Amino acid sequence: MSKKKLYSFQSEIKQLLNLMINSLYSNKEIFLRELISNSSDSIDKLRFYYVSKGGVVNDISYFIRINIDKRNSFITLSDNGIGMSKDEVINNLGTIAKSGTKEFFKKLNLVSKSKDSNIVGQFGVGFYSSFMVSDNVKVITRSIDELNEKNAVLWESDGLGKYSVCKTVKSYVGTDVILHIKDDCKDYLNESTICDVILKYSNHINIPIELKTYDKDKKVYFWKKINKSDSLWIKDKFTISSKDYIDFYKSITNNLGNPLIWSHNKVEGKYDYISLLYIPDTSPWDIWNREDYKNGIKLYVRKVFVMNDVKKLLPYYLRFTQGIIDASDIPLNVSREFLQDDIFLKKLKLSITKRILKMLDILSRDKVKYNCFWKQFGFVFKEGLAEDQVNKHNISLLLRFNSTRFDNFDDFVSLEDYLLSMKPGQDKIFYLTSDNYVVAKNSPHLEVYNNKKIEVLLLCDKIDEWVMTYLLDFKGIQFSSVTKNVDFSNYLSLDKSKVITSSDVKFDVLVNRIKSVLVNLVKDVKISNRLEKFPVILTTDSHDMSTQMVKLLIAAGKNVPKIKYLFEINVNHSLIKYINSVNDDKLFNKWIFYIYYQALLIESGNLENPVAFINIVNDLFVSLVISS
Ligand code: ADP
Repeated sequence: MSKKKLYSFQSEIKQLLNLMINSLYSNKEIFLRELISNSSDSIDKLRFYYVSKGGVVNDISYFIRINIDKRNSFITLSDNGIGMSKDEVINNLGTIAKSGTKEFFKKLNLVSKSKDSNIVGQFGVGFYSSFMVSDNVKVITRSIDELNEKNAVLWESDGLGKYSVCKTVKSYVGTDVILHIKDDCKDYLNESTICDVILKYSNHINIPIELKTYDKDKKVYFWKKINKSDSLWIKDKFTISSKDYIDFYKSITNNLGNPLIWSHNKVEGKYDYISLLYIPDTSPWDIWNREDYKNGIKLYVRKVFVMNDVKKLLPYYLRFTQGIIDASDIPLNVSREFLQDDIFLKKLKLSITKRILKMLDILSRDKVKYNCFWKQFGFVFKEGLAEDQVNKHNISLLLRFNSTRFDNFDDFVSLEDYLLSMKPGQDKIFYLTSDNYVVAKNSPHLEVYNNKKIEVLLLCDKIDEWVMTYLLDFKGIQFSSVTKNVDFSNYLSLDKSKVITSSDVKFDVLVNRIKSVLVNLVKDVKISNRLEKFPVILTTDSHDMSTQMVKLLIAAGKNVPKIKYLFEINVNHSLIKYINSVNDDKLFNKWIFYIYYQALLIESGNLENPVAFINIVNDLFVSLVISS
């Protein structure tokens, strides 16, 4: 054995190990699922390595083997997968090489509070979960590229900040992970416990998982196969139970929850393929990340794993879908570059997209499940309006919205529901975009619509403003933002006799006085016909950018000019009546700035200079106290 070289873990890993060792995760058993999943991946990689070099596919019998040494408290998990070189060991087991590390740690802090074990594995921290049950971990591995058995690598760590690496001898290519089990985890040294965990999480792994077992009669050890290791998707769907489908989902996704729905299809024709697609019930932490997110579709060619995360197979907006596609017509030694241009792949993508939309349509008939889907993935799915023109109508049928119809955030309406509740003469679908539900629900923009019992859709996701630029109408009925200065009096059938206009002589002086104060700040000052409870409101012209759009662009780093709002005043409001009676110009100006800033605060959620606003409020209070 060569001399050991000591290395320090990347600081994030130290943090992670600390969490693992202090057993923040309630179900430690998932360490086995994680290690088996790594072994299974390494065998998939080796299979692919051979086929891409033009080799034969099934010439090797692959295995994942588990040996329990109860007396000395060791569990060894071996695979004959692709193995690792020394550099790969250091890279893979000493660093978290993924982007979004910051997000990961944000989530990890939440996890440490919620004890949610589902997170392990989602981040590629699976291997480190072995430190939940062990106080020493050795990895002996030999890469497929290493011809000399003496050039295998031994990695070792107690998980306390450092690890060592040195040369060792290994007779065959693959990896052994040797765990020294902690005293309080000795239950995992029982065969029955290990078998239960394998059946629970890894029953459908496509590779035999074998446990070293003693045959009492023959007095010999043998490798006993524990899991089913079948390619479930190639079976006839009528022979597969729901439990099998769910178990399979869990084994391919590492998710602990159940799928909301699945769809298993065999397509025969010019191109043959099998798809088994699932909609999960929880969203992964990094799903917001369009480009870097790894989708959960694994591509197989005649039962042989080819690659995962094939971006060309799935539109971005359906990236939450998990499952398997087994296509017979793709060459086995396919490369990612080939997949970019292949016509069959393009057709496959169209067909899979249709299938997923159909699956969601079926799911939408179960309100509870569909609400769950919408809460988890609605903000991703909406991207489809921009991304997928072909299916735009089907996508819009599947959209769900918060609405003024309900008093809570958990109920949604579809656009079809909305059309059914439209008032006679109403020719627009009204909506309001906002930062969050509470702000939206309390917006003064809604007042007139609430009074007239006209439903308004409340759109509270960050991307909604952008999405709405792609959704101009539904079934021929146009969308209309309630924050715009539209002449809504027609379709809200306001009592025309009560409508007051800016040219009303009675208020002429007031309007002009306000204009002279806010001359550079607003586009115009108008008398509002939409307000009752609120004294003032800001609106934008129908062709101007809305507040939410400006916020979106600023968040995207764009330089956007300030919005010039229309300042609408409610002349029936006592405050405005009072202000109208203030003769002192200095005081009047303060009141106008006060109502302008409050309207701005309601409209955009913050003020550029909150101190100025507070000073004005304080001055006005003092003046009122003195005068009373
Ligand atoms: P993940 O598997 O999610 O990437 P892990 O921390 O579990 O994260 O593993 C890190 C990396 O170490 C893997 O991506 C893989 O490259 C390598 N690795 C882990 N276990 C094995 C194994 N048994 N054989 C080959 N490589 C492995």
